Amino acid sequence: MRTALEPTGPSWRCNLCGNIFASQLSIHGDTTCPACGNLIWPSLIESREAQNACKVLLDVGATIGFDTISKAWKIELTSNSAIDDALEPILQLDRVCELMISNADFGDDHLEALRSLHRLEVLSLSNTDITNRALSTIQHFLQLQVLDLSLTAVNERGLIQLNKLSQIWSLDLDSTHVDCLMSEHDWLQNIELLVLSNHKSS
Ligand SMILES: [Zn+2]
Repeated sequence: MRTALEPTGPSWRCNLCGNIFASQLSIHGDTTCPACGNLIWPSLIESREAQNACKVLLDVGATIGFDTISKAWKIELTSNSAIDDALEPILQLDRVCELMISNADFGDDHLEALRSLHRLEVLSLSNTDITNRALSTIQHFLQLQVLDLSLTAVNERGLIQLNKLSQIWSLDLDSTHVDCLMSEHDWLQNIELLVLSNHKSS
């Protein structure tokens, strides 16, 4: 476990794009947002818990954003090698709506540790080590709308567990072990964008 849980500086939120970053402000309280490049007067992350969580996540190389409309966090951990250090701070943030993890050593047990993220609306696990067992965790994310399982080992049998996820409208199954989708999956009727073995249908 890293010692970065000791906060060494505040985390700020860009008022324009929602990006979370740690940076020194000028004497006037302004700075340039590292994500959108605009000159901004950022907002301080209010809660101490969220400050600490943001600090750790930024330290391990995560990109963090905050959706000011839904008041929810967006976290991206692409090609990240510090997944184990990122799980605990993710759980300390209230209302995570978007989690993008791809090209990482992230498996079924990692996702099981994040099973309390009931507010997830967007989840990408592309090119991770997950299997059908992860789908038994995903089936509890009832607000999920966008799911990317491309380049993973999931197959047709595992998808049966997703039949309660009626809000999903985008599903990426490119380069998985899913060869065909059986029409008895009722929930598939709500899907507007489906990617399956390089064939896109909408
Ligand atoms: Zn910005």
